[in-house]
Amino acid sequence: MINQEMKNLGQNASAIRELFEYGKRRKQEIGEENVFDFSIGNPSVPSPQIVNETLINLINNTESTHLHGYTSAAGDINVRRKIVEYLNKKYNCQLDENLMYLTVGAAASLTISINAILNSDDEVILFAPYFPEYKVFVEKAKGIIKIVKPLEKTFTPDFEMFEKTITSKTKMVIINSPNNPTGVVLKENEIIKISEILSKKAKEYNHDIYLLSDEPYRELIYNDINYPFITNYYNNSIVCYSFSKSLSLPGERIGYIVINPTMNDASSVYQAICGAGRALGFVCAPSLFQYMIPSCLGYTSDLKIYKDNRDKLYQALTSYGYEVVKPEGAFYLFMKALGDDAIKFSSLAKKYELLLVPSDSFGYGGYVRISYCVPYQQIELSLKAFKQLIDDYKKTNEVEYE
Ligand code: PLP
Repeated sequence: MINQEMKNLGQNASAIRELFEYGKRRKQEIGEENVFDFSIGNPSVPSPQIVNETLINLINNTESTHLHGYTSAAGDINVRRKIVEYLNKKYNCQLDENLMYLTVGAAASLTISINAILNSDDEVILFAPYFPEYKVFVEKAKGIIKIVKPLEKTFTPDFEMFEKTITSKTKMVIINSPNNPTGVVLKENEIIKISEILSKKAKEYNHDIYLLSDEPYRELIYNDINYPFITNYYNNSIVCYSFSKSLSLPGERIGYIVINPTMNDASSVYQAICGAGRALGFVCAPSLFQYMIPSCLGYTSDLKIYKDNRDKLYQALTSYGYEVVKPEGAFYLFMKALGDDAIKFSSLAKKYELLLVPSDSFGYGGYVRISYCVPYQQIELSLKAFKQLIDDYKKTNEVEYE
């Protein structure tokens, strides 16, 4: 008998992937330009030129057996050193290359860290709405998920609920800023508050509680907000990062985990990270892309394009009467569904060729996620459909809607 849990996961694709696959089929049927696919977070802006230049340079000037060979399981030490030097300078922190582990993207960073820390039945707190794969990763590690709902309208953390949700079994808290799916960015005062609550509770229960910061969108912030780097605020913190979004390289699978050197027993935690990487088969991230990193640190794709998309979409949707959370970062827009049932609304939107992900799998019902990392032209073309959708909805649901 095979593992039924795994079979179920394979059989039931995530709501995002299901819609993405539907979009591919639909585009073949009616033409690419007629489907407004807002399903997946696949960056639409090309990587900065430095990426290809570096890769070409590496291919032309590095001995092939070295370039394509295994590195250390945790990644090349010189690459790790360069990343750490960059982060220490940028965020004024004191990271250590010997506490960094290069991975195949944020997904691997997360699942390695979660498996390294959790024992069966440990509780993990997620702030809703959250990236749906957290649930898969935590449950596979036999953890128990506890959800903290956000404050309405702002989608910022409800600190009172957060504090109440922490128990003697809480082992980890996951934060994600800028957030997928709301685009909300945690400010310094909020990070301080989370850290204070956690420190207080860890002391009360006399055990370590780890704060994992999932930050693949760290550079995608549109307002003038300084990113509060988590290791400067909380000792038992772990950073999971990926170059997927900042450099538009999601298919190349490259990222890292770095743990705070001031963490309690940091070297044991790092050994557990290395052990989880080994047990999960995530050793030696792609070497060509490891070697690319040092030259590309500090570069990003042209993020202004996403800001233009956000502004256009936000302005249009609110003017049509939709209720939308204004994103401060990432490239997602969280929009209230028309009617209470987001799944039903997503199906209705499909009739207008709008592919919007229902929010239920993000641990929060009644909304849809719009991934606006698409060509600007798609946004312009889609607006008629968004307008038609709400106008028709108002007509057929006049009494309820008013
Ligand atoms: N975490 C969040 C919040 C994400 O949105 C994503 C991808 O969209 C990931 C992690 C996974 O990133 P990666 O593609 O680098 O594995």
